[in-house]
Amino acid sequence: MSREIRTYAYGLPRIGRDRSYKFLVEGFWSGKLSEEELRKGLLNLERERIQAYADSVDAFPIGEFSFYDKMLDTALMVGVYKAEDLNDYYRLCRGKDALPLTKWFNTNYHYLVPRIDKACFKKNAFWRDGGLSISHPNGIPYLIGPFTFLKLSWLKESIGFPDALMNLASVYKELLDDTPEVHMDEPALVLDLTEEEMKLFQEVYRELGKGKKIHLFTYYDSVDRLPLLYDLPSASIGLDLVHGKRNIETLEREGFPPNKTLIAGIVSGRSPWRIHFDSVLSLFEKIKKKAPKLVISNASPLLHLPLTLEGEGLPFELKEGLAFAQEKLREISLLARVLRGEGSADELQGKTGVSDAFGINLEVRKRVKEAKAELTHRIPSYLERKNIQRDHLNLPLFPTTTIGSFPQTPDVREKRKAYREGKINQKDYEAFIKKKIKEAIRIQEEAELDVLVHGEFERSDMVEFFAERLSGIATTSNGWVLSYGTRCYRPPIIYGDISRSGPLTLNEILFAQGLTKKPVKGMLTGPTTILAWSFVREDISEEDVAYQIALALRDEVREYESNGIKVIQIDEPAFREKAPLKKGEWNNYFSWAVRAYNLIVSQVRPETQIHLHMCYSKFEDIIDYLEEMDFDVISIEASRSKGEVLKAFEARGFEKGIGLGVWDVHSEVVPEVEDMVTMVERAEKVIDPTNLWINPDCGLKTRAWKEVLPGLRNMAEAAKRLRRSHGNL
Ligand code: GLN
Ligand code: ZN
Repeated sequence: MSREIRTYAYGLPRIGRDRSYKFLVEGFWSGKLSEEELRKGLLNLERERIQAYADSVDAFPIGEFSFYDKMLDTALMVGVYKAEDLNDYYRLCRGKDALPLTKWFNTNYHYLVPRIDKACFKKNAFWRDGGLSISHPNGIPYLIGPFTFLKLSWLKESIGFPDALMNLASVYKELLDDTPEVHMDEPALVLDLTEEEMKLFQEVYRELGKGKKIHLFTYYDSVDRLPLLYDLPSASIGLDLVHGKRNIETLEREGFPPNKTLIAGIVSGRSPWRIHFDSVLSLFEKIKKKAPKLVISNASPLLHLPLTLEGEGLPFELKEGLAFAQEKLREISLLARVLRGEGSADELQGKTGVSDAFGINLEVRKRVKEAKAELTHRIPSYLERKNIQRDHLNLPLFPTTTIGSFPQTPDVREKRKAYREGKINQKDYEAFIKKKIKEAIRIQEEAELDVLVHGEFERSDMVEFFAERLSGIATTSNGWVLSYGTRCYRPPIIYGDISRSGPLTLNEILFAQGLTKKPVKGMLTGPTTILAWSFVREDISEEDVAYQIALALRDEVREYESNGIKVIQIDEPAFREKAPLKKGEWNNYFSWAVRAYNLIVSQVRPETQIHLHMCYSKFEDIIDYLEEMDFDVISIEASRSKGEVLKAFEARGFEKGIGLGVWDVHSEVVPEVEDMVTMVERAEKVIDPTNLWINPDCGLKTRAWKEVLPGLRNMAEAAKRLRRSHGNL
């Protein structure tokens, strides 16, 4: 076997063990740490990170570090914003002047979206690393490339992308002046790009690459016109060969330039499962023939994985099939050794994935098979259901409701922690939750809302909570992954067939319903969202996993119904975000995602009202798919776009109920009656008023009661005024 195989890794999580990154930065925010202490702490953390690379791989990027977010750093580095010090910097990250956050490709990392108002850039090299310089002989300076940076920024319409890109490229050229070699991240190359965009890309890199050693990285999917990169002056091209299977086909068909190095991403940075040695070996053999100069690498940044498995108390059968970020580094290094003919494959050949006997449930598989053959549409049709439900629920015009959660105040978090640590028993914890539910019901009754919620006090997180209750899904104790800034979450691990062995939320919902005559919503997280925010097994299709979850939820729904629950909401905030990066793959994805949703509700009674909650504003993209979903009311975000979102529904002649999110839950501002009324009146022009509901954008879990109490009252008052103007009160 070949001796010259080298290794490279990138994107190792910066959060450190036990989330020290979070606590350092937040310590600085709260004034507990000085800037000097923060820098010192972060420098140590960064040194550890670099050392972890150096211990395992031959080369790695240097300067991936960020005080909050790398897109913001890049914006500062090219002069889109100015920041004199860290206080200025953090003002761009949080508080009222913060940049908006949005999803980084199809991952659960969110970046700050720079706003570019003029196509004029200026180099400010300080923000390459914010003064936290570390060097290492094997480190290669890291940058987000200009194309990706611009593509993911918000660009004022009057500025053309080509102009902006050319100006930006000249600043990058200056930045590269003293940098002979650079790791350039250009993941935007895997998006659906126009020919024009590809041409621009080539133009930029023909210039940037002159006399430089550029390592061009793409990941998350395949590059559609890969050969267009072949004659650019770059030293190497990094390709994702795990999530970008089509890259492999292109390599086989078109070959690879002999003068360039292929940085072969063959160890996934997004999936926590160990590599499958035999398939990696055959992939390696295949590409080696096409690209003799080869470096073994991870397939996408490792930051989507928890840092390490060490100390995780997972079941043995599961743990031995897993590899988190640091274990992936070891896999890369072991793999290269084996491929060089220096080590035995024994260590790699060990366990991959989860053993057959662990996690299989034949009953579940049978149900999924039957469900696939089932007619998944609800009968009777929506319009008939609308009448039946009107009589059954007897709701006023413009019914009011909330999306589910109420403030997760410190007492709630403390009690949950105490319960987890065994300091209070189950009985006391449940009694506490009941007390909170009681308060929530009283508050909603006093505010005179129409459809109530129980408040979700029992949930740490809308996915983790269900994961803990369903069989076939594991949760970790320290498997934190960065979601944005300093915010981390612990994705559950779906390893086996999923089933419901007991009530999920039934007890809390029924308790709440027992306290009031008004309908209380049964509240579930949908299958696509559970999938999107978890790590998912790879031995069966995601589609099948989604159906398994859907059938478990169907059982819960059935129990809701037989216990008198009249309204059920299924949350799917990740429905759109889980869609593949390339539109060509959308039909396939949405067809199973829609079907999974419908499986939950296809057998409910006509009088049971099903709500769907999604919270993002670009519905134009997915409205056709929404039409296929069997809900009765959809609640959406509308406040930030001031109701603009309704255009998509109007254009479609949408007939179902629409819950307008008239309250921006991300803001501390209490919504005014006036503003809410105006928003609804505008909506009435395009939507039949009998279809309109009034609600906040999303759950109120991050808000304080002092905002929520007046907010709820104002919402109810807005509804009353609107009803009055319709002569209905
Ligand atoms: N029911 C959930 C809540 O209110 C919905 C959260 C979400 O859409 N992200 O918190
Ligand atoms: Zn939401």
